Amino acid sequence: MKILVINAGSSSLKFQLIDMDNESVIAKGLVERIGTVDPTTDLTYEWADQKIKQKQLKKCDTHAKAMEIVLGVLVGRDCTASEYDANDGKAHLTGTGVIADLREIGAVGHRVLHGGEKFTASCLIDDDCIEAIEENIPLGPLHNPANLMGIRACQEVLPDVPQVAVFDTAFHQTMPPRAFRYAIPNEYYTDLHIRKYGFHGTSHRYIAARAQELLNLPKGNKIIICHLGNGSSLSACVDGKCVDTSMGITPLDGLVMGTRCGTLDPAVVEFICNRKNMTPTEVLNMMNKKSGLLGLAGDSDMRNVTARYEAGEPNAKLAIEMWAYVLRKYIGSFAAAMGGVDALIFTAGIGENDAAGRARAVEGLDFLGIKLDYDKNAKVRGQEAKISAEDSKVQVWVIPTNEELAIARDTLELATK
Ligand code: ADP
Repeated sequence: MKILVINAGSSSLKFQLIDMDNESVIAKGLVERIGTVDPTTDLTYEWADQKIKQKQLKKCDTHAKAMEIVLGVLVGRDCTASEYDANDGKAHLTGTGVIADLREIGAVGHRVLHGGEKFTASCLIDDDCIEAIEENIPLGPLHNPANLMGIRACQEVLPDVPQVAVFDTAFHQTMPPRAFRYAIPNEYYTDLHIRKYGFHGTSHRYIAARAQELLNLPKGNKIIICHLGNGSSLSACVDGKCVDTSMGITPLDGLVMGTRCGTLDPAVVEFICNRKNMTPTEVLNMMNKKSGLLGLAGDSDMRNVTARYEAGEPNAKLAIEMWAYVLRKYIGSFAAAMGGVDALIFTAGIGENDAAGRARAVEGLDFLGIKLDYDKNAKVRGQEAKISAEDSKVQVWVIPTNEELAIARDTLELATK
């Protein structure tokens, strides 16, 4: 079966078409600037055997139109600025598609940010599921409405195809209350559901399952997964089940990230509001979008910050030192929380590719039994590999994540049940 995976943002729509017979990616792409003030909408797509193509389309106002464009290119209706008709949302040129007929799409899997406490696993999308995603909008005010737009767009253009919602929060629902509650009065939890939810759950779940297959771990095994991308989070897992994670009620908590500050004293918010005459929303916007590596070093991309660090720039040096220091503290605290650690796993953009970053993250952690093989570590980029020394008590691995495949697997399972 061929499965279409959709990740809808407020003005974007990412897609992947996966052939589940051999789990290969047939096509992937991105529609950007949907419904914004920009005069055009951009489409970027790539077929398995061809180079990336980029097109500027006439303005596309809705996700449903963006979905039509995506389906159009998949079946070979090419769209360019002149051929795409913004009025009927259809593309009118024949190009080379990857499927002959839309009926080849057996099911659609959607990434949904916030499942709140309701969703502990993925689910087939029906009216109840949609209602529950709507109920969780206060917890995911930017993402859940966008995810719903993606779902509704697919329902409109592929009405007979089963759809599945895969939640970023679901994997972390196995955390015990002592890990997920905040120490504020109970009514804030009972009335407002204020608690830690955790994110990147689809990635953590994929890695946790892959680790159980690859690492030959004992029963009751304890692993720490470091998902280090633009957004970064850690999870602590016992037997592949999450017992703690570094992100909170929103993805702002935890590690120093590309543009997010990570953990800090919440009193900072009021202090800045008073001194800078800013609203809490403005302060949180600053903490989400202008902080982290960007705030400290002036660039959110780890490659650029590293280049500046190597050129001796003090701000970049501090940014990288703080990034590694906070990460090390989390690794240590999760090992303490589980009473030990059998394996440490790095994944996502930085975790998979940045050997120097991995080495900095575990510097001084020999006392926990974590010892890198520095030569091996230096050679590993984007592939599954063990990077710990032979005599390391803790196995250290790089395992590339694949959130789209995880979504497609869930979708296949639920759609064929
Ligand atoms: P997201 O999906 O959260 O946007 P990614 O998982 O793609 O992010 O990770 C992006 C991050 O990975 C960026 O900070 C980028 O600089 C970093 N990255 C990618 N390749 C390398 C590399 N070779 N060395 C260091 N950092 C890298």
